Amino acid sequence: MLVLENIVKHYSETSTFSKNRGAVVQAVDGVSLELAAGETLGIVGESGCGKTTLARVAARLIEPTRGSIRLDGQDITTLRGREMREIRKKIQIIFQDPFSSLNPRKTVSEIVSEPMIVQGVDPSGGIESRVKYLLDRVGLNADHLKRYPHEFSGGQRQRIGIARALALDPKVIVCDEPVSALDVSIQAQIINLLKDLQEDLGFSYLFIAHDLNVIRHISHRVAVMYLGKIVELGTTREVYNNPAHPYTKALISSAPHVTDNGLERIVLTGDVPSPINPPSGCRFHTRCWLAQDKCSIEEPQLIVRTSHESACHFPQ
Ligand code: ADP
Ligand code: MG
Repeated sequence: MLVLENIVKHYSETSTFSKNRGAVVQAVDGVSLELAAGETLGIVGESGCGKTTLARVAARLIEPTRGSIRLDGQDITTLRGREMREIRKKIQIIFQDPFSSLNPRKTVSEIVSEPMIVQGVDPSGGIESRVKYLLDRVGLNADHLKRYPHEFSGGQRQRIGIARALALDPKVIVCDEPVSALDVSIQAQIINLLKDLQEDLGFSYLFIAHDLNVIRHISHRVAVMYLGKIVELGTTREVYNNPAHPYTKALISSAPHVTDNGLERIVLTGDVPSPINPPSGCRFHTRCWLAQDKCSIEEPQLIVRTSHESACHFPQ
């Protein structure tokens, strides 16, 4: 359904106060992924590893520096204008922050109907009945149509964002940490809603999160990111029960309530290096307790090494 091929996204550091002003930030550096119809592919990694950048490239909110994006067989990497508008019907995004991603001056009805109006879509039965149907689907009361976002809780606002994403019947929904800003008690409700919607409507999710429990609960397959690259990719069961890359092992072993496979807790030392000047060879070698000379010289490719793909010279 969605194919990312060798996606690179470099920013130039523009912050006036940064000592690195003008430097190149290698936010995403050669990521290839395939998302099947009806599938959820989870992407997990620490803050700053390039998840949001990848999400925005995949949803074509920003153009990649290099690489290509195909949706349903069509190359959409550089589409603009009317052609790009057509693509917006097929691929939607749900943002991390339900407080800033909804226009505070618009009513729920206006927010959810906007994609249909912008696209000139006239659903059978009319826009208002479609909006009511969508609100019902996401568990919101149709009496709320005339209310404004600030009258809702975080979880309810995220439901509004989900209704808006569903409005055009997309084939792919990119979710960028859709529950990270919510109370833990609300997170499971939203995750279960997202799962139910997928079962009924059959679209695919590119689902991004830093929380390993959330990713495990919703994903069919999982990609682990470190400093702009995918270091491990496999079915959720393979990655969680049989992690091959030391970074994945450390992540899983230190996440609360994730380990049921007897992994000894591994605490990573040192900070994540800067994407402005990433380490040579394997980007993880500066923090890896198994690193050998080869690791700082030769970059390991993401290939099948154990039961699934990993990018490590010494997979576990
Ligand atoms: P994540 O979502 O995993 O936290 P991001 O994609 O937001 O990661 O960021 C990846 C890296 O790119 C970070 O080092 C971040 O500071 C940098 N970055 C993100 N957006 C920009 C931008 N517009 N200009 C410069 N650097 C950016
Ligand atoms: Mg992010």
